[in-house]
Amino acid sequence: MTTSLRAMEIMALTAKQTNSPWGGLPYYPISQFYRSLFGCKVYKVPVSVAQTCPNREGIKGMQTCNFCDEWGSAAYPEIRHHSLEEQVARTMENMRLNYRAQKFLVYFQAYTNTFSKSQQLRQQFAEAFAFPDVVGAVVGTRPDCISDAVMDLWYEASQTHFMAVELGVQSFDNKQLEWMRRGHLVDKTFQAVERISRSNPQINLGIHLMFGWPDETDEDIIEAAQLTNSLPIHNVKLHNLHVLKNTPLAEDYLAGRFKPIELEDYSRRVMLFLQHLNPRIAVHRLAALSRRSEELLAPRWTAKKMEIYQGLLDYLREHGAYQGQKFADSRLAKIPAGE
Ligand code: SF4
Repeated sequence: MTTSLRAMEIMALTAKQTNSPWGGLPYYPISQFYRSLFGCKVYKVPVSVAQTCPNREGIKGMQTCNFCDEWGSAAYPEIRHHSLEEQVARTMENMRLNYRAQKFLVYFQAYTNTFSKSQQLRQQFAEAFAFPDVVGAVVGTRPDCISDAVMDLWYEASQTHFMAVELGVQSFDNKQLEWMRRGHLVDKTFQAVERISRSNPQINLGIHLMFGWPDETDEDIIEAAQLTNSLPIHNVKLHNLHVLKNTPLAEDYLAGRFKPIELEDYSRRVMLFLQHLNPRIAVHRLAALSRRSEELLAPRWTAKKMEIYQGLLDYLREHGAYQGQKFADSRLAKIPAGE
């Protein structure tokens, strides 16, 4: 097929999808959810305030997750030496200048933000909410790191601000969780989701999933979508497992024990996941993008931010695929009892 013919086909499919409820996108983007809630585009302001996590502290013999670099998943680790107030003010200013942003959510992203005393997080919330244009907070944490004190704090925050929690679930497969050294199994995920949603339905609850594990199959991905559908959550974020320097996974990669997922396979898995995903569940993003390309070992396609996103959209459109397309089939699937 010539490039121009392929482009025309994609344009035709795109035109068909402009009637989609998602502004022409083949999936329900979280930005649309924010816009419907706040009446304008809302930007997440990532901050780096947590310093560590249970794995890094070796709690109960845990080890650093095999894919995690020294920055604990922070998007902007270089700002961690600034106070929270400075981080929020600087990033908001940049976003105002570059995107004319008006409203913001402070995103407590790096490491495990519920590992320290809840009093610390309470103080951080107070500092973040002191900015009039900050409409809420998003807290990234682990399923096994949620105390009663933190739940109380989230409840209080949700009385005045939008309160969201993102759980690093990564996988619904215990073997994969053990391989990546998460330090908890899938039962913790189900317990945490149940506990958070039952105790405070106002919390906007999301999960992070990674694709690209050893021996992962398309069937695993479909099952992950079915399990996601079975949970009382509001959104999901997708990552592709990639190898960063100075991580345990880098050792496996360099020794030939780990082969990163190819873009074609990742694209197909994203498509399968979205096709089986309940269309009411918003999607944060379709792939993890390595901001620090000098730290990226493999796969190299992870470094090409806009190309990956556009490539995934093109892939979905070429296949006429969209979120929820096979959701009815998924609802007939048997979800494992007790999980
Ligand atoms: S991924 Fe999260 S829990 Fe795992 S080592 Fe990194 S910061 Fe800690």
